[in-house]
Formats: sequence, C-alpha cells, structure tokens
Amino acid sequence: MGAKRILLIEDNAVNRRLAQFLLKSQGYEVWEVGSAPEAFASLKERQPDLILMDIQLPGMDGLTATRQLKGDPTTRDIPVLAVTSYAMKGDEAKAFEAGCSGYVTKPIDKTLFLEAVAKALKDRERKD
Ligand code: MN
Repeated sequence: MGAKRILLIEDNAVNRRLAQFLLKSQGYEVWEVGSAPEAFASLKERQPDLILMDIQLPGMDGLTATRQLKGDPTTRDIPVLAVTSYAMKGDEAKAFEAGCSGYVTKPIDKTLFLEAVAKALKDRERKD
C-alpha cells in the first residue's frame, strides 16, 4: 500500500512549511498550492486522498472552494479538512455546511492536527 496523498491549500508560507513538515514526518505524500484556482488546476493533474483547506485564502475563500469541489463529481468524494484560526467563531458549523468532513484550528497543535488528518483518512477508507 502506497503512502496516503494529501493536497495542502494554504497561502501562508510559514503555516505551509509547518503543515508539510508534520505531514511528511508521518510518511504522507504532500503537495501544496497557495490558492483555490491553483488547487482546481492541480486536482486535474492528480487526485489526493485528502485535501487540507485553509479557510482564509486570497481571492476565492476555502469554504467557497470546498462547495465547488463538492459539486464536482470528479472531486466530491475527496474528504476536505478545514483549517482556520481560533479567531473565527462559528467557522466549524460553516465548514460542515460547505461539505468539510472535519476541522482543525491554527495555530497548529501538532497532536490534534495529525489526529484530525488520520481520522479523515480513516473515514475515507471506510467509504471505499
Ligand atoms: Mn490563509
């Protein structure tokens, strides 16, 4: 069985580096983009087992992007884990409404972050 593949959508370079580092430390294959349009282009090239979606992105925000992914038959089955900051109260409900299967907050807590990723991947396996 190959490594689980994760697409990371995050515009902040520091957060991106940290998330990459943590995910790679667990043996996941990770690639990253900094915006929703880049994510759509990337998804035409290769499909991940999980998408990590920053909610606050320049241009199209992460919830709008998630709704779009969930409305597209080629991407709707890929679980999306929302990543957002503590400051944004009420984001959790909005994330689930948009079609996200889970939610993690920034600043990233290493343990909670990796648990959420592992859970989202496991939920996905059960559906396959
Ligand atoms: Mn952001």
